[in-house]
Amino acid sequence: MSLVAVGTVAFDDIETPFGRAEKVVGGACTYISLAASYFVKPVQVVSVVGDDFPEAVLAFLQERGIDLSGLQIKLGEKSFFWAGRYHRDLNSRDTLDTQLNVLANFEPVLPESYKAPDVLMLGNLVPKIQSDVLAQLKQRPGLVVLDTMNFWMDHALDDLKAVLKSIDVLTINDEEARQLSGKHSLVVAAQSIHEMGPKYIVIKKGEHGALLFHHGQMFYAPALPLAEVIDPTGAGDSFAGGFTGYLAKTKDYSFDNLKRAVVYGAAMGSFCVEAFGIENLKQLTPSMIEARVQSFANLVHF
Ligand code: AMP
Repeated sequence: MSLVAVGTVAFDDIETPFGRAEKVVGGACTYISLAASYFVKPVQVVSVVGDDFPEAVLAFLQERGIDLSGLQIKLGEKSFFWAGRYHRDLNSRDTLDTQLNVLANFEPVLPESYKAPDVLMLGNLVPKIQSDVLAQLKQRPGLVVLDTMNFWMDHALDDLKAVLKSIDVLTINDEEARQLSGKHSLVVAAQSIHEMGPKYIVIKKGEHGALLFHHGQMFYAPALPLAEVIDPTGAGDSFAGGFTGYLAKTKDYSFDNLKRAVVYGAAMGSFCVEAFGIENLKQLTPSMIEARVQSFANLVHF
């Protein structure tokens, strides 16, 4: 079992109604690989950082069984930086700043050992880079999953539409699904996104859970109601890590197993939001994850 994860490894400034934190380690690929590392080893990372990124964090990721041989470290350059402010409901946020830095000229080079993964997770970053990674594989993975956000719809829509033609699963949040499709109803939006390429679509709705669509079939997983949400940053990426980690472990890409993967994804997202940045994802155990999945089952069983 193997998983290649692509995306940003970054610094974030985060503001919520309850507090703020500066230069927190984040990035889509950081959350994806950490969450997935509880299901599959190695998780093989494709990304880029500057020489400002803390070595201790890279060492920690490696200790968790995350392979960083596809992570480029650019001397004299700065890591990707994002700043965001959450609204009172914590479901929506404004991006205050996005500095591409090292990402602006990033050309991914896949090590030989990365070229035949069971599952490829194309996390949020430049759509052209997502395509470049796909093009370097020796064989088609069992499943190709892609996550993106409104920033790339605003800045690189044609490249995004091009890569969507070659993937199996799109994970996207509700507002982004509406932006991409131009449709308000999520059911109609999913139909129109199917026509762009992906046969499965996961629409994430923050604290209102996630919907899985597969050509007319639908599945809904709630989000676990939590006593305290500290920082929603990375919830979507942790979802993607749990979702793809579970699928890489089980290697069953049927609709029924994707339903289970959505619940594992939702469980990892719920752990992520309980602390700032990646803190809560550092200290989980398989039994904590199974207990959380059971809480999801109890929540909807009647
Ligand atoms: P999420 O909350 O799951 O949507 O992901 C938040 C993470 O995405 C943060 O840690 C950011 O560093 C990263 N991020 C923000 N904007 C972008 C972007 N345009 N491309 C790639 N990653 C981004």
